[in-house]
Amino acid sequence: MSSTLFIQHSQFDQHSVPPSHPESPLRSLAVETRLRQTGLWQDLNIQTCQSVNPEMFKQVHNPGYIDQLYQIAPAKGMILADPDTPLTFNTLSAVAEAAGSGIQAVKQVLSGDFKNAFCAVRPPGHHAEPGKTMGFCFINNIALAAQFALSDPSINKVLIFDFDVHQANGTIEIFKHRKDVMVVSIFQHPHFPFSHWHNQAENIVNIPIEAQTASTMFRRMTEKPVMEAVSKFKPDLIFLSAGFDAHTDDPMGGLDLIEEDYYWLTKMSMDLANTYAKGRLISMMEGGYNLEALALSSHQHLQALSGN
Ligand SMILES: [Zn+2]
Repeated sequence: MSSTLFIQHSQFDQHSVPPSHPESPLRSLAVETRLRQTGLWQDLNIQTCQSVNPEMFKQVHNPGYIDQLYQIAPAKGMILADPDTPLTFNTLSAVAEAAGSGIQAVKQVLSGDFKNAFCAVRPPGHHAEPGKTMGFCFINNIALAAQFALSDPSINKVLIFDFDVHQANGTIEIFKHRKDVMVVSIFQHPHFPFSHWHNQAENIVNIPIEAQTASTMFRRMTEKPVMEAVSKFKPDLIFLSAGFDAHTDDPMGGLDLIEEDYYWLTKMSMDLANTYAKGRLISMMEGGYNLEALALSSHQHLQALSGN
C-alpha cells in the first residue's frame, strides 16, 4: 500500500449538468474506472469526501456571495449561475464535499498519515473568484484548502502550482499580494479566462504558453521558471491545481501534451515537495474534458504520486 490518499465523492453524479456539458459526472467515473482497470486502485488509500460547513467558504469568498449562492439554488430543476455554470439542488452538496475534501487531505497529510493526496472532485474550483462563479466553478477548492493549511502553526508558506490549460484567475484574485502564498500558473495564452495573465503581484508567477506547444517545448518553457520561483519561495506545503485539459485530445484547450507529461509534471512537483516541504503535496482535480485523455492523464498523475 502506498502512502497516497485518494478522496472521491460519496456519489459521483451529485452535480448533474445538461447532456452536452463538458464538466459532466462521467469525468469522475472515468478517473476511477481507469484506476480500477490498471490495478493502481488497490494501492491507494481510498476515502469518501467529508462535507464542510458552507460558512467556511467565507474564508476565501465574500460572505454576501456565499449567502446569495445558497439563496438562488433551485429546489428542483436547474438554473445557470453564469452562462457556463449550471446549478441544481444537489450541486451545493457536491460543492461542500469537493471543498471539504481539500481540508480532509490537509489534515491527514499534516498529521503524517499520508505523504500526498489526490482529490478527484468536481465541480472544479480555480476560476471561482471571491465574489463570483465562473467557468464551471463555484467555490475555489484549492484556495480554501491552502487557507486552512495556513491555520496550522507549522505551515507558514504554501505554494499553489496550477497546470490546468486555463489560467488560475480565481486563485490569483483570492491570494494576490499575500506573502504567505505563491501561485504559479502555467496556461495557454491567449485563452479563457483572458484575464490575470500579466504578472500583477509579486507572489504570482504566470507562465503563458502558445497554442499547439507540445511536450518537449512545454517542458523546456516551464521547468526552469517553476524551479526558480519555488526555490526562492521555499514553501512548507505544496498544492496542485491538477487540470488535465492541456492534453492534445482535450476539446477545451489547444496545447499538445500527452499523458506522460502529467507524470513529468507530477514528478517535478514531488521533487520540489521533497526539497522544501517534507514531501507533502495535495492535489485537487480541476479540468480535463476528453474522458479518455482525462483517465490516462490522471492515471499517470497517480502513478507518480504513489511511486508506481
Ligand atoms: Zn481548465
